Amino acid sequence: MHWAPIRKKAEWWTTRPNLLNYQQTVASFSWDDVRRHCAGLPGGKGLNIAHEAVDRHATGPMGSSLALRWLGRDGTSRDFTYDNLREQSNRFANLLANLGIGKGDTVAVLADRIPDIYIAALGTFKNTSVFCPLFAAFGPEPVFQRLLRGDARLLVTTERQYRQKVSSLRTLLPKLQVVLLVDVGDHLADDLLSLPRLMAESSTTFSIPPTSPEDVAVLHFTSGTTGMPKGAIHVHNALLVHYVTGAYVLDFHPGDVFWCTADPGWVTGTSYGIIAPLLHGITNIVDEADFDAVRWCENLQNQKVSVWYTAPTAIRRLMRLGIAPAKDYDLSRLRVIHSVGEPLNPEAVVWGQEALGLPIHDNWWQTETGGIMIANYPGMDIKPGSMGRPLPGIEAAIVRRTDQGFVEVIEELDLQGDLALKPGWPSMFRGYLHDEERYRKCFVGGWYLTGDLARRDGDGYFWFVGRADDIIKTSGHMVGPFEVESTLMEHPAVAEAGVIGKPDPLIGELVKAFVSLKPGRQPSDEMRLELIGFARKRLGSAVAPKEIEFHQNLPKNKAGKIMRRLLRARELGLPEGDLSTLEDSS
Ligand code: AMP
Repeated sequence: MHWAPIRKKAEWWTTRPNLLNYQQTVASFSWDDVRRHCAGLPGGKGLNIAHEAVDRHATGPMGSSLALRWLGRDGTSRDFTYDNLREQSNRFANLLANLGIGKGDTVAVLADRIPDIYIAALGTFKNTSVFCPLFAAFGPEPVFQRLLRGDARLLVTTERQYRQKVSSLRTLLPKLQVVLLVDVGDHLADDLLSLPRLMAESSTTFSIPPTSPEDVAVLHFTSGTTGMPKGAIHVHNALLVHYVTGAYVLDFHPGDVFWCTADPGWVTGTSYGIIAPLLHGITNIVDEADFDAVRWCENLQNQKVSVWYTAPTAIRRLMRLGIAPAKDYDLSRLRVIHSVGEPLNPEAVVWGQEALGLPIHDNWWQTETGGIMIANYPGMDIKPGSMGRPLPGIEAAIVRRTDQGFVEVIEELDLQGDLALKPGWPSMFRGYLHDEERYRKCFVGGWYLTGDLARRDGDGYFWFVGRADDIIKTSGHMVGPFEVESTLMEHPAVAEAGVIGKPDPLIGELVKAFVSLKPGRQPSDEMRLELIGFARKRLGSAVAPKEIEFHQNLPKNKAGKIMRRLLRARELGLPEGDLSTLEDSS
């Protein structure tokens, strides 16, 4: 079905969008100009995210402005002005330095969306250490892999998370020097310390050391298709992209109240749930609770949210309830709605217009890009179902790989190919930690290959087609099939496992495993439940398979590798494609 573009009319705008003339802005854009919006560290000592996001506001007229409002699950809330954030993050930076955690050292956090992790992020940037957020719904295995691969030296977490997920594996993490617990009043051991106590004992003044724009700031793990998760390295200079997308895409204006529903365990929750709104000196809403339709509508109304950044799964959940929030709640402050993370169906864009009073703007990016790269802009027409057009300063193309190991740009319109970006934007990842080769492989013929398939239309809008690999997107979260397969194979009954994403109308894809059992083990409902429970315990609910199907002959290629592509095609009743590499095809 063809969806007509949603035309933006000037009378819609209560606030004039920051980006109105796309062609002109693209033509005159320069990253140096964006850099001129930054204050820089005093004395020309460089560029530090925390200085730009907090200190420069705190020490100016905005010191007492509301920077972060935290909404607790239990109905309580806490407000932090820019000045409060400055003091708290100074304390955290000081305690890191006192513990001997320095420049380039990894500071991991594992907790729900509680204020401590926001303060830890900012304090970590100040200390020029590396912030590494972990999703609180991960089970012990993904947590362990990320702490190990990320060389974590310090972990901030809760006592429950620590006992359930880290303590039994701690001896296997020799680099993990100290764990700070947010919810104990006193130190429990020399290397298991109370964060509140250390914060109280730390000074509220801290001088940010010289920070090069190329100093590492964030380590974000993202799932691979063939191996364990990869740590994408991001630097302080990324803030230029956070700043410019805050202006052009999210359309921040002074006085805005912004709510990003993403968890900092994923890149959206860090780049936009922490950094971008603070760079712009606006108010950032953080809700500790997970999705709940009534609560979310109340948040939009009661917090007077003006810019909302959410995800397709949440939007589809609201749609499914058949509600029209704009009728029952006062959403008059809401000016723009954005979505990211998975394809946003055109129906959802249009539903937004009816039920929320505003259409939804889809945008595209990924962990490796560090910030939004392609977007539907508030000041421009929306094409429902499209991801939009490249950010000024970003060159995107549809390319095809050639047999000689090069890529060529597909100039024809509406042809499917690999979505590629010209390297060099400030928030581009600078490497995969300890995996130089994997990083190098992402760049071919002068392009960064995103791993997504897409097409481009005559107006320069990009349309998502699918992943070029086997990575699964479930509820907007990336899951690497290899990680799930490896865990299933640790079960004594499992011989082999192949994991795919099965399309699901609500959560995008659900994790489905095909399992063959060892001789003497029989498939049964009990066995299925046991394996699901086994995987949940180790991987956590965000990653574990929701469906398991037994198959004694999993399709394999001649090298003995399970062909997930074929499992998926069979599951969906699609053509099986080229079978010449199938093990028993000859
Ligand atoms: P992550 O690195 O976890 O943020 O996931 C990035 C991936 O999510 C992209 O490479 C896409 O496959 C998918 N993705 C992100 N945004 C969109 C979007 N607007 N439409 C379709 N897929 C998206």
